[in-house]
Amino acid sequence: MTTGKLVLTGITKSYGSRRVLDDVSFEVSPGRLTGFVGGNGAGKTTTMRIVLGLLGSDGGRVELDGVALTSADRRLFGYMPEERGLYPKMKVLEQIVYLARLHGMSKADATARATALLTELGLEERLDDTIESLSLGNQQRAQIAAALVHDPEVLILDEPFSGLDPLAVDVVASVLQASAAKGASILFSSHQLDVVERLCDDLVILAGGTIRASGSRDGLRAQHAGNRYELVSAGDAGWLRAEPGVTVVDFEGGYALFDADDVDTAQRVLRTAVDRGDVASFAPKHPSLAQIFKEVIQ
Ligand code: ADP
Repeated sequence: MTTGKLVLTGITKSYGSRRVLDDVSFEVSPGRLTGFVGGNGAGKTTTMRIVLGLLGSDGGRVELDGVALTSADRRLFGYMPEERGLYPKMKVLEQIVYLARLHGMSKADATARATALLTELGLEERLDDTIESLSLGNQQRAQIAAALVHDPEVLILDEPFSGLDPLAVDVVASVLQASAAKGASILFSSHQLDVVERLCDDLVILAGGTIRASGSRDGLRAQHAGNRYELVSAGDAGWLRAEPGVTVVDFEGGYALFDADDVDTAQRVLRTAVDRGDVASFAPKHPSLAQIFKEVIQ
């Protein structure tokens, strides 16, 4: 039985003498949302197009459950390209039903599935409107429906959140989460780090065509936590400034954010704080995705 695990190994790609992907390796696991982040020109779209077979690589492998991807596998993928591709004059429901029919669904199943999905995406009032009459944000919702209508095992989405207002981001996010919960492997690129941070289970950070970090979001945050800690106490935490091995980063009354030279120092600080009484909380301070991103792309 297949599980839909997508594995890229050592992908390279050059345009002329310019190498735009260099030894790119990462995994997209079933049931998980993998955020693919990197600045403009990092190589995200190129990577996605190689996964989809729209572009050849110069080296490396793309495998699904340990077997080289075939064009038959790829036909089952869901894809939302960077350049959006729906027919402007076609009506919303008609368009999505048409795409579902191309994937072999019966007319009745296609209509039921398309209607349900478009409703989930908040387009239930727009089913009979043409694509071109929709706002850009709504066109994007329709595009998501197009990628998802055949319940793909693997979903590749190029910037699905760009240009969406916060409400639409939440709607699209919950549809993707539902799809992951059913077992889909989902790779989505985004430059909106706050959205990625909230949504993704796993993370791949690309810069200049090389992978700078990858793994579970929480694992990466813990790994990059360094020795930064947060102390909240009811009393004044000013004594921290005089502690050897401690650099106070932020301080206000009972709140202190500090770097400890090592774990022993952090433990000593905790003991001292407890001895002084009034400790409300003491915890390692994990960095945000934006901070990790800055650190790893340097
Ligand atoms: P991203 O999606 O992360 O913004 P891309 O994959 O689109 O990055 O681009 C990666 C690099 O490859 C960029 O420097 C871009 O200019 C270059 N590139 C992309 N497509 C072509 C092409 N057809 N010919 C030459 N260079 C290209």
